[in-house]
Amino acid sequence: MATATATPQTLIKGGSFLIEDRSPDEIFTPEDLTDQHRLIGQTGREFMEQEVLPHLDEMEAKKPGLLRELLRKAADVGLCGSDVPQKYGGLELDKISSIIISEEMARDGAWAATLGAQQGIGILPIAFFGTEAQKAKYVPKLASAEWVGAYCLSEATSASDALNAKTRAVLSPDGRHYVLNGTKHWITNGGIADVYVVFAKVDGEKFSAFIVERAFAGVSPGAEEHKMGIRGSSTTPVNLENAEVPVENVLGEVGKGHLIAFNILNMGRLKLGAGCIGGAKHLFAEAVKWAKEREAFGHPIADFGLIKEKLGEMVVRIYAAESMCYRTTGMIDGMLHGIDQSAPDAGRQILKALEQYAVECSILKVVGTEVLDFVTDETVQIYGGYGFSSDYPIERVYRDQRVNRIFEGTNEINRLLITDMLLKRSMKGELGLIPAAQRLRDEILGAPAFEEAGEDGLLADEARLVAGAKKIVLLVAGSAVQRYLQALADEQEIVAVLSNLCMDVYGMESALLRTLKKARSTSEDECATEIAATRAFVYEAADRMESEARRALGRISEGDNLRAELAVVRRFLRRNPPDTIELKRAAADRAIALNRYPLIEPR
Ligand SMILES: Cc1cc2nc3c(=O)[nH]c(=O)nc-3n(C[C@H](O)[C@H](O)[C@H](O)COP(=O)(O)OP(=O)(O)OC[C@H]3O[C@@H](n4cnc5c(N)ncnc54)[C@H](O)[C@@H]3O)c2cc1C
Repeated sequence: MATATATPQTLIKGGSFLIEDRSPDEIFTPEDLTDQHRLIGQTGREFMEQEVLPHLDEMEAKKPGLLRELLRKAADVGLCGSDVPQKYGGLELDKISSIIISEEMARDGAWAATLGAQQGIGILPIAFFGTEAQKAKYVPKLASAEWVGAYCLSEATSASDALNAKTRAVLSPDGRHYVLNGTKHWITNGGIADVYVVFAKVDGEKFSAFIVERAFAGVSPGAEEHKMGIRGSSTTPVNLENAEVPVENVLGEVGKGHLIAFNILNMGRLKLGAGCIGGAKHLFAEAVKWAKEREAFGHPIADFGLIKEKLGEMVVRIYAAESMCYRTTGMIDGMLHGIDQSAPDAGRQILKALEQYAVECSILKVVGTEVLDFVTDETVQIYGGYGFSSDYPIERVYRDQRVNRIFEGTNEINRLLITDMLLKRSMKGELGLIPAAQRLRDEILGAPAFEEAGEDGLLADEARLVAGAKKIVLLVAGSAVQRYLQALADEQEIVAVLSNLCMDVYGMESALLRTLKKARSTSEDECATEIAATRAFVYEAADRMESEARRALGRISEGDNLRAELAVVRRFLRRNPPDTIELKRAAADRAIALNRYPLIEPR
């Protein structure tokens, strides 16, 4: 498989979607995929159909050796080392290729977690932060899946607050190894791994990362967890009892383990979000097929308005999430373009680029997992009683997908991070949110400008609404910061509202730009479903934003101030709602005609 390079994109600052306008040409969309990307998708799909899906029951029954065998087969077709430099046995593909792989693997949650731990959090800490000797020793074996990897950050009493880890590392008197003691919890691939990246505190203080082989004395996985879902994957504690780890296996610098722990998660969040969006598309096709086959009251249930409404809403939400996902990944590829992957500091450059888009990666984690959650729940509903039966596949999916909102940072933690990262960047002057909020204040306090008619043309009203929605974020953020200053972090409900507003703005604009880009090369008729999905998303997001902004402002402000701010909210989100019932019916009808998610051709 050759390297597939996405069209280089303009270098765009992470988080700048709130204050800068972009043109459709500046964003990557699923319509821009190359033949190589499609080939990678096809490889992934065939692998799932031939190697994984026929073995789901054996995976759940924990057939010995099966996961390792599947990982080796995945590596043979290039699915394990997609992000790894060629120098260390990987394929060095662009990140668009990585998310395509995640989308395809997500047809089964247990397998997606197993492969994700191997090719992501298992390999990348070493590939990005390892010394030349560490990379040469471990990365090729992990990329070929000769060895299985795992990432051990969480503990029984610290996972969201991982820096509170209790696992200790002490240098031996002869200075040749560290002695590790503690237990890591919830470790994906824990029971089958050969190599663990373990986080522990040197002398109880300096948070550090270590490469720990299962073969080292004192290292042993515990029993498999009994889980609600992804039962086919291995999740165990990892016990470290006077485990002797050679000093040359310290990963990165002692005391700087947090840089590894948190930077690796950006990539994990992007891929998890993408995987959930892929999973939602696969599941959607099942929902459509069932709705067409199942009859009630003498009709296929797909004929009923309430079923079409569900299908239409699924299309709308998936379309926005997919647009956000490809836009973000295109920006990351734009930033990574030109990095010499064989350079000694390549890993750090790659992580710096990913860090630039940490806000967008957290957004995708939350949006992707919540879209899949919604699509799964509604698919169970469309299946009716059969959705509740373990004789049908949807019951397993329902159980499997639940964990997505919990791992890779819970959705609560990611919501806190989105606003926190944006505010910190603007305080440091890296992102112009503060001057933009000030300009907005001046605009609001100044004489009311004549309402400009603005541009006409396709989706012009929606574009105006997106511009107004960006101002709503600045208005609420500005008021919140002014009222609470440093204490804003204690107002978690408001912080989460701000993140929700950001997510809706990003979704609205991403869907809008994608549709406008497609409309440039096709007729309006040919992108009628995209237009319907965009309009429905933009107007419903505006409804959500208005309600969320009112909720936050009701706490932040009072009296005349509150009344003035609410008037500004109404002004910036002024809209005449379209017939969203018809828009969703149209999206559902297209899906029913095509038997699938209608807005991208299957690979
Ligand atoms: C199947 C599975 C596989 C996993 N694989 C791995 C792995 O491979 N490696 C690894 O290191 N870990 C792994 N984990 C652990 C996972 O990352 C943690 O479970 C997750 O981070 C949540 O931590 P916790 O379970 O301790 O919940 P807690 O941190 O106790 O959180 C409980 C609840 O409190 C909320 N909460 C916590 N802190 C705050 C706060 N400051 N403000 C508001 N709300 C808060 C959370 O959002 C959550 O709703 C896995 C977990 C599971 C279930």
